[in-house]
Amino acid sequence: MASTTQLCSYWFKSHAEKYGRPRTYPKITRDIPDRYDVAVIGAGWFGLNTALKLHEQGKKIIVIEASKVGQGTANNSTAKISSQHQIKYTNLIKKHGKDLAFNFGTMNEEAILDIENTIKKYNIPCDWKRAAHIVFAEESGKEFDEIKAEAMNANLSGLKASFQQSIHDDAPSTIQHYGAMRVDDQAFMNTYSYLVGIADALHNGKVEIYEDSRIGDISFGAPHKLTTVDGHKIEAQKVVVATHLPIIDRSGHFSLVEPSRSYCIAVTLTDESKMIKEMYINENSSKTISLRPTADGKVLILCGGGHSTGEIPKGDPSTWGYGAVESWARKHFPVKEVIAKWSAMDYYPADKIPYIGLAHHGSDSLYVATGFGKWGFTQGMAAAQIVTDLILGNPNKYARYFDARRWDLTHTAMTAAMIQAHVTKHFVGDRISHIMSSNDIEDLVPGEGAICKDGIVGTVAAFRDEQGVIHKFDPKCTHLGCHVNWNPQNKNFECPCHGSVFTGTGEVLHGPTTLPLKKK
Ligand SMILES: Cc1cc2nc3c(=O)[nH]c(=O)nc-3n(C[C@H](O)[C@H](O)[C@H](O)COP(=O)(O)OP(=O)(O)OC[C@H]3O[C@@H](n4cnc5c(N)ncnc54)[C@H](O)[C@@H]3O)c2cc1C
Repeated sequence: MASTTQLCSYWFKSHAEKYGRPRTYPKITRDIPDRYDVAVIGAGWFGLNTALKLHEQGKKIIVIEASKVGQGTANNSTAKISSQHQIKYTNLIKKHGKDLAFNFGTMNEEAILDIENTIKKYNIPCDWKRAAHIVFAEESGKEFDEIKAEAMNANLSGLKASFQQSIHDDAPSTIQHYGAMRVDDQAFMNTYSYLVGIADALHNGKVEIYEDSRIGDISFGAPHKLTTVDGHKIEAQKVVVATHLPIIDRSGHFSLVEPSRSYCIAVTLTDESKMIKEMYINENSSKTISLRPTADGKVLILCGGGHSTGEIPKGDPSTWGYGAVESWARKHFPVKEVIAKWSAMDYYPADKIPYIGLAHHGSDSLYVATGFGKWGFTQGMAAAQIVTDLILGNPNKYARYFDARRWDLTHTAMTAAMIQAHVTKHFVGDRISHIMSSNDIEDLVPGEGAICKDGIVGTVAAFRDEQGVIHKFDPKCTHLGCHVNWNPQNKNFECPCHGSVFTGTGEVLHGPTTLPLKKK
């Protein structure tokens, strides 16, 4: 039986316990007459790191966040800072060649140093700790061969990688495995504390930061005009769209990436001597389990149980999401208590490398970074450097490999077509299946939602709140019209096409949409 802990990331919770509530920033409540060199939309990992780099170079910046500083995906992750990304370098060499793989490797390694130096420079308390990252094979055949090849290819790509027969000098002997690949000198930390520290550094440098101010529209020009969903205007010469998936559909990135959700838990152990010291991940990308300790060695963090966002598994809740992760934890560790649970999604790029730089061919002043495939901290820091260099007109040796405007038929077409097929399947299929098998609104218990019958052939996204009041919405996502689905483990509506997420009462929790569900 899975525990019933309230959803809140361990990073946010432990930050609040150690350092108290973070600083809050005002909401935009009027047009802002000042004109900025750069507006950064989104105070997440990529956005805040970019803002700090640009501020250090003397640019006049404004940072505008839809929700709260640092509480996006970075706050809901495993918070490993690693250039080792499961099986990565073998695929990169196969798809793009040794030169790109090497540049990807060195770019990620440099990003780890960049993060470490930023922490030192601004004296950010965020439990930074160097550790090895280890990926292990759970099967003796194909997985074993892949691990061996990956160790060699990661080495060729500039990582300190080695093959090792066993992980049992540190990890529990119940984890059955057939060899592992180890990369030393990686790191882990509290990524939320880090972002609070970056926002503090910006605030102390008199950079304006706004929270609870969702940008709904970007009107292109010189300057660009940004409009919040409440109708307030901001002007900037250049704009960094750091909204995880860009909110500008014109760049087309929504059609080149696939959203995938995972679930995380933090547990204490009855015997702390059983705590791991390094970071681990299994090789099986369809049943990933990723784990790491906290810096004080008292808490174990585990993430997995994933699925394509919005494609909610039908089975027993203990076989997916939090339940699956907790079962795995209890099988291998003496779990005392689950002290936190949280979840997030990230976007997988069609050709396995992120999209970084100018958003599209029609603009020379609009920048994006997306498609980090659940390894966004090193790639996102590198993206912050690339975008900063592009804005300043400085050379950056990595920029050309990850150009966000690429449409590379050889490496992208097949996967992009599969992503589109997935979207079409949901756009059409979910409408039919919702009509055929939707629920009765009367059956909803408080706190639950579902796609329900509405009249003879209609459907609604319905939610019964804790007071028993029913809220009804058009099930069409306000981004591009796919039907949303109810996620019973996170208690929200998710869109299977591009990953927009809404509360039971219809408010936007995650883009690319900027508009709430339409009331019915
Ligand atoms: C479960 C999970 C575990 C992960 N673990 C790791 C890990 O261990 N190591 C690793 O390297 N990576 C990991 N990742 C990936 C990493 O967390 C992400 O790649 C990274 O956080 C993405 O950064 P971002 O800045 O693009 O997005 P975010 O950090 O989500 O920031 C985007 C910000 O933009 C804001 N925003 C959105 N729309 C608007 C709007 N219209 N107006 C204004 N603001 C807006 C959001 O509110 C948010 O604050 C993990 C991902 C997941 C899902």
